[in-house]
Amino acid sequence: MTTEASETNNLIKGKPLAKQVRRELKQEVAALAEQGIKPCLAVVLVGEDPASAIYVRNKARSCRRVGIEARDHRLPETTSQGDLLALVQQLNDDAAVHGILVQLPLPRGLDEKAILETIDPAKDVDGFHPVNMGRLLAGDPQFVPCTPLGIMRMLREAGTELKGAEAVVVGRSNIVGKPMAQLLLAEHCTVTICHSRTRDLAGVVRRADIVVAAVGVARLVKGDWIKEGATVIDVGINRVDDKLVGDVAFDEAAPRAAAITPVPGGVGPMTIAMLLANTIKAARLAGA
Ligand code: NDP
Repeated sequence: MTTEASETNNLIKGKPLAKQVRRELKQEVAALAEQGIKPCLAVVLVGEDPASAIYVRNKARSCRRVGIEARDHRLPETTSQGDLLALVQQLNDDAAVHGILVQLPLPRGLDEKAILETIDPAKDVDGFHPVNMGRLLAGDPQFVPCTPLGIMRMLREAGTELKGAEAVVVGRSNIVGKPMAQLLLAEHCTVTICHSRTRDLAGVVRRADIVVAAVGVARLVKGDWIKEGATVIDVGINRVDDKLVGDVAFDEAAPRAAAITPVPGGVGPMTIAMLLANTIKAARLAGA
């Protein structure tokens, strides 16, 4: 696999930052161990989707690297709603489990919303439960979805000025776009959210000091939409021929941007690091 992200000196690199986060988390795990607490994440995978299987394996491996116990629960494609709900309930009741992650998408026939709403909000390390989404909206966040959480850390590390900045989020999913917009708003950005019905996407993006593209359309955001000196966060992961590319036309955008994330090696590694951080937080809160 090759990458489109050629070497430029304005890259916000996710890999080294994720490594630094993991180092910090290892220390937290050690501190918890002194109190007799070992953070534990239960990862539930239903069915045989190959991409999901890779994600789940990577998440479990990352957990173990920082000293979090990862429990794998693999269920067949034919699993019923009742059986899956029973497993989630059992994990809710298990005091040794601090975080529960149900890998999405679920096979057809399973009610994703009902499953996610059954997860105990105190163990909802993905931050998808309505209670956690509501807390974020109310300005009292508990568990925040991992991708936007990781992006905020990247923006801080890049030294991006947030207060008063024009931020444009392209994409309004519950897992990326909407929580991203809330986090930027909480940091006093002026936030615009774009989506598939936005009339003049190029015109809106051109105003942005900060662009977050979370769409899933390869190179949708063109280089000449990027204001000189803007910070560009590319969440998209799209396979084009033998390449992984983002939602931003990287080669055109990079020379105009003050800072830009590559794909791959940008937002992705930070997403997993934040899952670990949320799991450790859940363990700490449960032990408090
Ligand atoms: P969704 O498919 O849930 O949402 C996509 C959003 O993009 C929707 O709000 C949709 O608008 C909008 N959209 C689609 N086409 C256009 C268009 N032409 N112009 C403007 N907006 C458009 O995706 P996700 O949020 O789950 O993921 C987005 C991308 O990020 C994907 O490539 C995914 O793989 C990647 N991703 C990467 C992660 C990482 O860790 N790096 C983590 C999560 C996701 P509408 O609502 O109107 O349909």
